[in-house]
Amino acid sequence: MQLLLADQLGPHFELEEKLLLPIVDNQFAKRNYHRQKAHLIRYSQLARARDNNVEVIRLDSYRDLKDFPGLTSMVAGSSRSFDALADSLGLIKLSNPGFCSNKNDWDAYLAKAGKRLRLEDFYRMQRSRLGLLMETGEPVGGKWNFDEENRLPPPKPGLGLPLPYRPEEDELDARVRSELDALEKSGKAKFIGVDGPRIFPGDRNQALAALADFITNRLDLFGPYEDAMDSRDWTMAHSMLSVPMNLGLLSPLEVVKAAVSAYETGAARLASVEGFLRQIIGWRDYVWQLYWHFGENYENLNELAATSEIPIGWQDLSAKEIEANCLASTLRDVGERAWSHHIPRLMILGNTALQRGFDPKAVNDWFIDAFADGTPWVMPANVIGMSLYADGGKMSTKPYAAGGAYINKMSNYCGSCKFNPSIRVGEAACPFTAGYWNFLAKNSERLRGNHRMSQPMAGLRRLTDLEQLLEQEKKRESL
Ligand SMILES: Cc1cc2nc3c(=O)[nH]c(=O)nc-3n(C[C@H](O)[C@H](O)[C@H](O)COP(=O)(O)OP(=O)(O)OC[C@H]3O[C@@H](n4cnc5c(N)ncnc54)[C@H](O)[C@@H]3O)c2cc1C
Ligand code: SF4
Repeated sequence: MQLLLADQLGPHFELEEKLLLPIVDNQFAKRNYHRQKAHLIRYSQLARARDNNVEVIRLDSYRDLKDFPGLTSMVAGSSRSFDALADSLGLIKLSNPGFCSNKNDWDAYLAKAGKRLRLEDFYRMQRSRLGLLMETGEPVGGKWNFDEENRLPPPKPGLGLPLPYRPEEDELDARVRSELDALEKSGKAKFIGVDGPRIFPGDRNQALAALADFITNRLDLFGPYEDAMDSRDWTMAHSMLSVPMNLGLLSPLEVVKAAVSAYETGAARLASVEGFLRQIIGWRDYVWQLYWHFGENYENLNELAATSEIPIGWQDLSAKEIEANCLASTLRDVGERAWSHHIPRLMILGNTALQRGFDPKAVNDWFIDAFADGTPWVMPANVIGMSLYADGGKMSTKPYAAGGAYINKMSNYCGSCKFNPSIRVGEAACPFTAGYWNFLAKNSERLRGNHRMSQPMAGLRRLTDLEQLLEQEKKRESL
């Protein structure tokens, strides 16, 4: 009998005939999960348990599985702790079908890459190997990447797309809701964020409906507006499919094949389909492979010696005392839906945490708890590496710090903000613009050897009001 974990709920994970689905009652006791994340996990498990070949057991802890006879295997690679569990139970570890590459593929990549790890090389290798958007060994359209057609700011009137797919809640949602209410009331769990309605698919049929909706209504505009933020539109043309993919309800290969076939039938432009493919067979697999490659210690790296506590308005997702419009709106979005798209995660939340020196491990864990798609494997490369540069450059060649000018260019947040993105000192000083220079000044020694930072550092030296700016930022209590 195969052990079936909560992120392995789709048919591609069904590698043996009989499946054992453990539900751990105190799963939500240890950390403050977003209420909607906890709801989705529990809903999806119970929905999967409706199938005849699935047996459910309720446990106090995964360790209690040792008393369960007949368990022989599980899919490996969900997280280090589950891998250790498989070892302690003596289970056969099956290869993980939730990704588009395996250990052999990664080793083949490493053999070519040597010490210079680059997403672009990994992505090209994946595309050639999987034969996606390839024609006689060459990329379709003659290029691997269409970045210059993408990255547009949000259009003034908005994208005008229909609302994204949303499942209809059913009696199982009501049951889960009362289970979670009871847990909270008894003090056995404490949740953050607001409760429902559930916006993410929680079973296979719902996941397929969400995929079809994305392919038909949003994929074509995915590429051009991939990096744009619009306060009136929380999804833009993003897919929101990380959630069902990370629960294992959709296989990434079926998702990208659907996208490629939309290109082939003329339903979506090449720049969008290529961009989307890159995110999944490229980035998603890359960060998963890096989770195993970098190992456990990576999560404790803190190259920039950042030790500030995460503010209360983040911890409870209330945005309390936060005046920066872009940041407050993003935190409120996460509070309302346990989700935001990639650019608010990286360029607003990650950028703030980097500039203000939040403790990297705490930020890593906050993202896991607050986001519906948050998992232990996805966060280290995205947070410790890409967002916070806490790994000293293993993942990105320079810190992703940006001032208000970037946010102003790629969003409409600044128009209704009390701050001004082009002002760095004074009452109207934008905390991202001032924060950017403050960050460079604070870390100038640590970043000295990084040639990609030499231009920004030269800019820093030219600032005539640096002293005032540093004094102002020292006194800043909230953003
Ligand atoms: C600070 C930070 C935190 C993040 N937290 C998560 C997380 O909790 N869970 C998660 O799955 N992704 C995470 N990401 C990556 C990315 O932001 C999300 O995958 C994406 O926003 C999910 O929305 P979507 O499905 O609409 O993605 P789309 O924009 O539609 O992209 C398609 C798919 O590509 C994959 N993808 C794209 N970029 C990445 C990436 N950098 N890492 C991994 N997969 C990627 C996702 O599976 C995503 O569904 C994080 C990135 C950052 C910078
Ligand atoms: S002015 Fe600064 S703080 Fe305000 S929305 Fe723009 S970038 Fe954010």
